[in-house]
Amino acid sequence: MRKPIVAGNWKMYKSFDEAVDFVEAIQQAIPSPDKVDAVICAPALYLPTLVVAAEDSSLAIAAQNMHFEDEGAFTGEISPAMLANIQVDYCVLGHSERREMFNETDEAVNKKVRAALNHGIVPIICCGETLEEREAGATEQKVAGQIIKALEGFTPTEVEHMVLAYEPIWAIGTGKTATADDANAVCGAIRNVVETLYGVETAQAIRIQYGGSVKPENIEELLGKEHIDGALVGGASLQADSYLKLLEAAANA
Ligand code: PGA
Repeated sequence: MRKPIVAGNWKMYKSFDEAVDFVEAIQQAIPSPDKVDAVICAPALYLPTLVVAAEDSSLAIAAQNMHFEDEGAFTGEISPAMLANIQVDYCVLGHSERREMFNETDEAVNKKVRAALNHGIVPIICCGETLEEREAGATEQKVAGQIIKALEGFTPTEVEHMVLAYEPIWAIGTGKTATADDANAVCGAIRNVVETLYGVETAQAIRIQYGGSVKPENIEELLGKEHIDGALVGGASLQADSYLKLLEAAANA
């Protein structure tokens, strides 16, 4: 039985005070920490404060991106060593917004996954197709390619502890959600790829989230599907009450 993981991806939203108020408001209200893992992916600037604010709770704090080098002349970047040093637990890698707007390649994502593991950070590795790719029937080919490249060079035990996130690009921030059956089919295809490469045990253990316009109203149906083990949520994670509803629904799914 895989434990669902609901990660709120705040992207480039919230003032510092709003971020701290959010975490302080929810940290003692996380429903059923034994049934669902709760993660907030915050702007880098807020991470050290939020890690401390969430210290006595089951809420985990994640970064939204990082560099793959430990240190160096990379102006404006944040390293995995820095994140580990302030006890950040997870890092989102290869989000489509980074791939599309910041030229992040599959090769860079692969290096970042290695760097995350070297520092005990759990990567949340994103994949997903554009609307044109979906309409051309190329969804599975696209996500399989991204996942194969991201996971290249890892052992089955390493892969088992990673989190994957299937996020169709056309569903992100658009209010359009993949149907639960479509999302499940792609997550199932991703699990098959993992099984082919790393074996059945790893494929059964790895958690695969769905992301793209997930809301309190639709999360239960999505998580009720066999291959969907959680959600990566943007817009609906920005308000504390909405995020708590997502966690409650995930705990009941
Ligand atoms: P959304 O974003 O929930 O606002 O569609 C999801 C994401 O980009 O992770």
